Amino acid sequence: MGFLTEATPPRHAALDVLPGITRIVADNPGVMTYRGTNTFLVERDDGLVVVDPGPEDAEHVADILKAAANRPICLILLTHTHADHYGALPGLKAACGAPVAAYAPSPKPGFTPDIMLGDGDEILGFTAVFTPGHAADHLCFALKGAAGEKLLFSGDHVMSWSSSIVSPPDGDMGDYYRSLQLLLSRDDDVFLPGHGPLLPQPRRLTAQLLVHRQKREQSLLAQLARREWSVAGLAARLYGKQDLFLKAAAQRNVLAHLLKLKDENAVRELTPDTAEHPDNLAMAAMAEQSESWRARVARLQGDARRRFALS
Ligand SMILES: [Zn+2]
Repeated sequence: MGFLTEATPPRHAALDVLPGITRIVADNPGVMTYRGTNTFLVERDDGLVVVDPGPEDAEHVADILKAAANRPICLILLTHTHADHYGALPGLKAACGAPVAAYAPSPKPGFTPDIMLGDGDEILGFTAVFTPGHAADHLCFALKGAAGEKLLFSGDHVMSWSSSIVSPPDGDMGDYYRSLQLLLSRDDDVFLPGHGPLLPQPRRLTAQLLVHRQKREQSLLAQLARREWSVAGLAARLYGKQDLFLKAAAQRNVLAHLLKLKDENAVRELTPDTAEHPDNLAMAAMAEQSESWRARVARLQGDARRRFALS
């Protein structure tokens, strides 16, 4: 696939990406976040608009405020409520007082945006494009660039460096397909994603992402035509991942595909496996040593044992 790569960008710096738009890459690199979450600062007549505050990190908030310098922050836009985009929001909002605009109703407990956006809503020149799939509350934001080019802040729906995880129930594979098709029906010139560098000619990669999922779905059905599979077994069979984080992500994607196929009556769910898959035993062992893994793994284990067969 036509993914882009980039060297680790300078930290704690506002990088010029387009006229009137800078990018600050948060210091949260990882197998799911690449070099870190992108926070964009966009100059408008009323001041600066922040697109995605980033992870909970006081230094990152300080970097945003420093980059704003003496320009007021007049609005915070949020693509979705995952922690690596939302985490810095309370700190940033407390520091600058700007209202936050995001999709509503949000599935995130206790979060109600000041300005509730739905598909097609406009604010300060940005147009919200409802794109659920990676997250149930995901918005992309369309904006005319300084030279009239059509920009789309694409969040984690379409990223330049990798495909996105679709993890049920917040993630929904049927929605993800439809949201990719929605972007294919548009004529944006460049995407500014939640992770990774800017993506020119974005329809090419978007189309490849959709084909990639359709192929994955076909190979999943081909495996199920031969025998029944657990989520963990199918993920190990279809994805050659070594890293435990990536194995876990693969299991979430496989479950999302299976639930989509179940909705379409192509597969049916059986009673779950009683035994853990070796991959999940390894995840459980890692969780013993990691607070952040413990809660996550507990939820993964049950889903990993779920079994499916062709209808
Ligand atoms: Zn993200």
